[in-house]
Amino acid sequence: MNNNSSGIVGFIGLGVMGREMARNLTQAGYTVRAFDVVPAAGEVLRQFGVDVVSDLVSATRDADIVISMLPDTPQVEEIVRGEGGLLSHPPRGKLFVDMSTIAPAATRQLSDALLAVGVTMLDAPVSGGPVGAKNGTLTIMVGGDAEGYSRATPYLSAMGTTLNHVGASGAGQTVKLCNQLICGINIQAICEALALARAWDINLPQMREVLMGGSAASWMLDKLGSSMIEGDASAGFRIDLMMKDLRLVLEAAQKHPVPLPATALVATQYQNAQAYGEGANGNQALFKVYDRLTGQKNSATQ
Ligand code: NAD
Repeated sequence: MNNNSSGIVGFIGLGVMGREMARNLTQAGYTVRAFDVVPAAGEVLRQFGVDVVSDLVSATRDADIVISMLPDTPQVEEIVRGEGGLLSHPPRGKLFVDMSTIAPAATRQLSDALLAVGVTMLDAPVSGGPVGAKNGTLTIMVGGDAEGYSRATPYLSAMGTTLNHVGASGAGQTVKLCNQLICGINIQAICEALALARAWDINLPQMREVLMGGSAASWMLDKLGSSMIEGDASAGFRIDLMMKDLRLVLEAAQKHPVPLPATALVATQYQNAQAYGEGANGNQALFKVYDRLTGQKNSATQ
């Protein structure tokens, strides 16, 4: 990362991901004006030189680029269409990059509305989780105007190492949803394999090692498989967020009808976890659903 970049970034949403991304932009040399509806969310950023402001317009008005990292579609709609939003107060640089994971169809509508007031919107959801956000190594999937993409690239490079322009508005979100579909089904497959192996008294750590050397190997088995076995339910990517993403996948599959039976089944498992109050746990805690289904437990899921 360099420390010589110039430009003002309005950063909206300072949660688990956003606060790390805002910090990386500051450390790359950008002036960052950051806003979150929860005032305490950004406090920790002041020590890194982030200008944490108390309202949306103060963050966005003079920005060369506005970047958002918000929970879901309604929150992004709020900062675009709501009071003090980008439609009524277009930022000086006329560039908005939404890095949240939201609905592709809503993204296109927001992009069209913003274009009418001269603002280019890109969708640029990410993969890599809190660790990728902290280390500035996110994978970023970008949809939208090519000229907007080249203007945004220096800023995105301060937050991620793998940048791809994958198509028109909404394409970044669609690719991200396909990523989540694959991840969700993979997590479910790992839960099923571990539950079956546990029922047959197999040594789970050893099985994971063996499988990591073969064709069933995956990032999920490597990282989350260990956490399932060890009983570490602590959040990285939360159950609630994955359930939100699976809902977005299923909604997208209704708009252009595509049957996704495995995704629908996995969503039910995630709902089971939520129903038991486990939404704030990491995705590896999906294995607890199998404790209930099988009546078995290991140290992993205490
Ligand atoms: P988070 O809930 O920790 O943070 C979201 C922040 O947005 C909160 O601080 C909240 O107060 C703030 N906010 C909500 N509405 C707002 C508004 N109208 N104006 C300003 N601030 C507002 O969520 P997160 O984990 O940082 O995830 C953010 C996005 O990134 C989500 O769309 C998520 O799906 C995606 N994502 C998360 C991860 C992960 O591992 N956490 C990984 C990849 C992608």
